[in-house]
Amino acid sequence: MEITDAVRKAAKTFETPFLIMDLDIVEQNYRKLQNAIPGCKIFYAVKANSHVRILERLRNLGSNFDVASIGEIKKLLELGVTPDRMIFANPMKREKDIAEAYRIGLRLFVADCPMELEKIAENAPGSQIVVRVAVENKHSDWPLSRKFGTDMLTAVDLLGYAQKLRLKPVGVSFHVGSQNYNPKSWSNAIENVAKIFYWVERNFGIELSILDIGGGIPVKHLKPIPTVEEIGQTVLQAVNEYLPNVRNLTIFAEPGRSMVGDAGILVSRVILRCQRGSEEWVYLDAGVFHGLMETIENFRYELVVEGKEEEKKMPFVLAGPTCDSVDKIYDDAMLPYNITLDDIVYFINAGAYTVEYGTNFNGIPSPKVYFVQDLT
Ligand SMILES: *Cc1c(COP(=O)(O)O)cnc(C)c1O
Repeated sequence: MEITDAVRKAAKTFETPFLIMDLDIVEQNYRKLQNAIPGCKIFYAVKANSHVRILERLRNLGSNFDVASIGEIKKLLELGVTPDRMIFANPMKREKDIAEAYRIGLRLFVADCPMELEKIAENAPGSQIVVRVAVENKHSDWPLSRKFGTDMLTAVDLLGYAQKLRLKPVGVSFHVGSQNYNPKSWSNAIENVAKIFYWVERNFGIELSILDIGGGIPVKHLKPIPTVEEIGQTVLQAVNEYLPNVRNLTIFAEPGRSMVGDAGILVSRVILRCQRGSEEWVYLDAGVFHGLMETIENFRYELVVEGKEEEKKMPFVLAGPTCDSVDKIYDDAMLPYNITLDDIVYFINAGAYTVEYGTNFNGIPSPKVYFVQDLT
């Protein structure tokens, strides 16, 4: 998202830190993905940014939703999203939440191990099951394949076990890791998943019909990224090549970051600059506990300092406002040499996984969210 005049004006008017978002960009992102993979069912991963205005806009576009908790499910219900538009994609659900989700009407659950299937069979009998497999995550900034997903052989057994438990095994999901830079990650995953489709049919007579390609579509920060069109092409080619004979195949996608990331700018302000030994430190009113959690893994945003875009840059240690040493954003942020108190610092394309992680730590509230659509 561009630093428009409206954004600059907001930065001068509103108390920092805050996230400013453009709902039209969210809509464009949704439409682009829909066009890139025609017929694909989009399940927005609510955890990326669960602001009601974003959920409402996506609801109006006909989006479905990837939910991880009863809290997310209820929030969507209140917005009029029916349970048949949700997938309970968290592979580690509380039993009471499974039961509650079932009572509400959800019938589509993800699992990646036997105990989870047993929990679902007990609390959501007869539901549809998507089994999550772990795939190569090496081209991503946030690998997810250690905590989640089973191997290909076990996936075949799990789908058979689901059937034995009188559940309905319907598909396979994977996640190539969040912010993945290589479209091949998707085609490699699909090549492997196709073998599962084949083996469950051979071993158990199960015809799967859902290929869930997860999230992982990247947002532009410092490194070049493939377009959603390129990723869509790669996915479609892989499906044609490796799953040519599947009847009624539906592709699911669960984008989080790519729906909202480039629809927001985090606006913060310098509250202190000082020298510590040989290091120059700059402290902001936003930090790891207040919008910038992803930077603890050195996730890199483009930074712009208001009015000092053309100044010579030098390295600073950039930190947040709390009394915790974890609250350090970067060791080597390149910032204008003359950055000083009250300067505005923009974190570009920060609409995903920022305010969602905002805490009240140290009594400092999470950044507020404003929308370009509301500014005059
Ligand atoms: C977080 C998550 C996503 C969204 O991933 P992005 O990389 O943000 O697009 C999709 N699916 C599942 C199951 C997730 O947990």
